[in-house]
Amino acid sequence: MSGKRGNFSRREFIKTAGGASIGSVLIPLSSLTHAHGSSSTKLPEQMIVPKRTFGKTGVNVSILSLGGVLGIYDQLIFRQAFKMGVTYWDTADSYGRGNNEKAIGKYFTKFPNDRKKVFLVTKASTSDPPRLTEKLNASLQRMNTSYIDMYFIHSVNDVKNKLTNEVKAWAEKAKAKGKIRFFGFSAHKNMENSMLAAAKLGWIDGIMMSYNYRLMVKNEMKRAVDACVKAGIGLTAMKTQAAFSANFYASIGSETDDALKMTENFLKKGYTAEQANLKVVWENPNIASICSAMRNITILQANVAAALNKKNLSEGDKKRLEQYARETAPCYCAGCANICESAVDLDVPISDILRYSMYNHSYGDRDRALMLLNALPADIKANILMADYSKAEKYCPQKIQIGKVLKKTYEDLT
Ligand code: SF4
Repeated sequence: MSGKRGNFSRREFIKTAGGASIGSVLIPLSSLTHAHGSSSTKLPEQMIVPKRTFGKTGVNVSILSLGGVLGIYDQLIFRQAFKMGVTYWDTADSYGRGNNEKAIGKYFTKFPNDRKKVFLVTKASTSDPPRLTEKLNASLQRMNTSYIDMYFIHSVNDVKNKLTNEVKAWAEKAKAKGKIRFFGFSAHKNMENSMLAAAKLGWIDGIMMSYNYRLMVKNEMKRAVDACVKAGIGLTAMKTQAAFSANFYASIGSETDDALKMTENFLKKGYTAEQANLKVVWENPNIASICSAMRNITILQANVAAALNKKNLSEGDKKRLEQYARETAPCYCAGCANICESAVDLDVPISDILRYSMYNHSYGDRDRALMLLNALPADIKANILMADYSKAEKYCPQKIQIGKVLKKTYEDLT
């Protein structure tokens, strides 16, 4: 990367151009209301997001899943998502400290007939069966529903110790009681090993894992996806934008200007880089759905437009994405935590902290980043500043400046 460090005006130009171009690649709001009469009118089939079968569950789910943290006052987003066929909704008991689930509950109270048309996913950050029962019951109550379609254990990176026979028995009991239909887990790090281990278990119905243009080309990820497909595990991709903040990385000395030219190329082709990132993942038919944080109607419209656009990316587009991934590798943590964390003398969840940094700088979700970092035990937080990261940086396949990013993240969030 040879661009000039600190060239913020160029970045701002690209950011602005990207925002301006969105208008040409959106589903027009008028098509949701005026053109088809009242807002309650059903959209024509060609404007409804397509579906794919979710592994052995046999359920057809929308290829776009409504994720992220929405609040009680975001009812319009739920309503428009439903109308556009985005009927796979993802949440977690921790999102907005339960408020995301409450917002969904508010929607189902107003539109009770929509419940059975939505594939509803929530997650709990525990693998202790009694706590799972408590958390499941609380989620059901908050969402004003008697059942969850897919219940995930949140952020599993150690399948052997988290998905025990006790958890299996708990899941079977919850299914028998009609409280959950299917069971699985989400994975932000060590995804490939977790997926391979889950495929061997035989009782996992679904996995939501980090998966994007950077990760999907790696042989380990290809093998993990194949194993899950053979085991009938439905797959949902998350973190498909593989986002990073150029300004943040420039502030610690990482140069990314040349790589940002990639976004200009996509704009010239009529879609945004964000839409290209979704499309390349959908081109793998083994991915049933993409979970995307859609915090406003504009993002929803852009994502739906990408889902409806049947034109495949060209080989040139895919090469551009691969080049972009290579050039910006030091700005993206691939979640291979066993490599860096075992090379540090102290206990530091490196990959998790890099994800919190991403929430803060790339998603603009400082609250979530603050909550997650501050939930770490005091001794672990103290380790962040004291640890020696030189070996971890040497082994990191992405060549991330781990020490600098972690220390900056600590300063920003404490
Ligand atoms: S910091 Fe590097 S080694 Fe560690 S999880 Fe991220 S990409 Fe892998």
